[in-house]
Amino acid sequence: MGLFSRLFQKSPQQDRNFYYTVKCNRCGEEIRVRMDRMNEPSPEYDEKGRVTHYIYRKDVLGQKCFNLIQVEFVFNSNFEMISSQVTGGKLIEPDVK
Ligand SMILES: [Zn+2]
Repeated sequence: MGLFSRLFQKSPQQDRNFYYTVKCNRCGEEIRVRMDRMNEPSPEYDEKGRVTHYIYRKDVLGQKCFNLIQVEFVFNSNFEMISSQVTGGKLIEPDVK
């Protein structure tokens, strides 16, 4: 069974895309970012090979200034966000369903 069908089977109702919005600390620009659930977060496994959680890291650059916003999210195995850390900006819309 391929990776795609396994993921699809596990969460048939979920969108592949996850959107969030960060606000730049320097200029106040609000930047909407798309995360691809299937490709971008890195799964972490326990000793039995089961996914325990996912880690997602992204450097976000707005269009109004050169302040780099560093985003780090942790999701549990059901893709619920369990922690978020944003450096250089602020998470204003987690858009968590
Ligand atoms: Zn900015």
